[in-house]
Amino acid sequence: MTENIFAILESRVAASERPFLTDGAGAVVTYGALLRGARQYAQALTSLGAQPGDRIAVQTDKTVHSILLFFGTLAAGCVYLPLNTAYTAHEVKYFLEDAGPAILVCSAESLPELEPIAARAGVRRVMTLDSGDIGTIVDLAAGQEASFAAVARSADDLAAILYTSGTTGLSKGAMLSHGNLLSNALTLIDAWRISSDDCLLHALPIYHTHGLFVGAGTMALAGASMIYLPRFDAPEILRRLPAATMFMGVPTFYSRLLAQPGFDGTLVSNIRVFISGSAPLSAQTHRDFQSRTGHAILERYGLTETNMNTSNPYDGERRPGAVGMPLADVALRIADPATGAALAPGETGSIEIRGPNVFLGYWRNREKTAAAFRADGFFITGDLGRIDEDEYLWIVGREKDLVITGGFNVYPAEVETELDAIGGVAESAVIGIPHPDFGEKVVAVVVRREAETLTASDVIDVLSKRLARFKVPKQVFFVAALPRNTMGKVQKNILRETYRRAFPQDAGGARAEG
Ligand code: AMP
Repeated sequence: MTENIFAILESRVAASERPFLTDGAGAVVTYGALLRGARQYAQALTSLGAQPGDRIAVQTDKTVHSILLFFGTLAAGCVYLPLNTAYTAHEVKYFLEDAGPAILVCSAESLPELEPIAARAGVRRVMTLDSGDIGTIVDLAAGQEASFAAVARSADDLAAILYTSGTTGLSKGAMLSHGNLLSNALTLIDAWRISSDDCLLHALPIYHTHGLFVGAGTMALAGASMIYLPRFDAPEILRRLPAATMFMGVPTFYSRLLAQPGFDGTLVSNIRVFISGSAPLSAQTHRDFQSRTGHAILERYGLTETNMNTSNPYDGERRPGAVGMPLADVALRIADPATGAALAPGETGSIEIRGPNVFLGYWRNREKTAAAFRADGFFITGDLGRIDEDEYLWIVGREKDLVITGGFNVYPAEVETELDAIGGVAESAVIGIPHPDFGEKVVAVVVRREAETLTASDVIDVLSKRLARFKVPKQVFFVAALPRNTMGKVQKNILRETYRRAFPQDAGGARAEG
């Protein structure tokens, strides 16, 4: 029996004329139209020469057809490789070279810049898809029959590769199988009681696990519907909330909703559950939200590599600051970071996960894959946590040097590599400091080369051309030397403390992504 997640979707929702989504302009896509559209995209990819197992790289806006393309890629047995729209051509080049996709779908605007890069990386075809659902792939799909039969896949066949930023500066492609995605979606449907009566207000991006799998994928498999918005815009969310039964967001969404005048319990009377993840939701935001709306936000914890691992209970206490208990089928342990040996209850250690949700490994990277798993198959998340006396998991920090800003991950090493390549920079350290809106913001501490007059705006200008906007430091500080320990390692804890104290109330004038 095939375990192609698209075939399973077909068997669950048949050719229903119920709505799958309503877009921002009010256009409805039924389940019948979703299945037909996805089959047309599968046929279109096949007509371009894509074979099962080929990667399809996609850097497009969040549109209705980008979702059809996602399901069509799965139907064709190909591997969906979404790319953050904020990535620069410099960044996309790396992903194309590493993943070797057969096809790239991008915006018409970025086509002139990406086409030669794609050709050099061996990509066979570059197609376009833009807001308003126009583009060469849209035209091609429109002319196809909708009778495509989903390609047979086993649970271990690849469905998607999502790149996570790498601690050494280079991103790693997390290989997710049909089985990984299906098992987690079914678990979430059960844990959060999702049914065909639900309507999710969907404002997350769809190039990330959260919006793509936890949001759109889970809703589709539940036969539920979505109000599908191109991005998060707080006043627009307020207008749409009364028609929804569910909402999912990163913590920044919640703090922004709270900052909206007129946001109160009257708008959310139809909502069954608010869900938060991808970054820590502060206990204070949880409490403020509850006193304003009467809703206790349900916080869950996951990673690109593992899908979702834990969730606060649907029925039962949703504990502010905690991320809940392991989901069904997910084994979670708190281990000694050095040895992987399980620690006594209540102790703080490395959060490690095993289960059908856990990815197959990093794409063409045996070394990084081996380093990420223990001998008994547990995946080392890089997060530090402890389990309290009632079995709730608390995330208390990260072993990995990661900044999460507005729900987006930034690995300092990647930014430091770009900084150090600037002529006037002798050395640099990138840290995250608390920020009231983004949770954390990226800050660079730079040592100039002797006699150099480089300014903060010079640095930001150079980085803006190389890195996605959310990775570019919001502030740059110049120092004579970086603090180092006796082993010569930069003491980032000292830098974090210094700059956190120097700018305790700083709202930074920055822009949120999310
Ligand atoms: P990503 O792979 O982009 O989903 O990022 C995964 C990382 O986000 C995890 O390793 C955690 O550090 C962090 N994360 C996700 N959910 C939560 C949460 N509810 N609370 C705290 N950190 C979280």
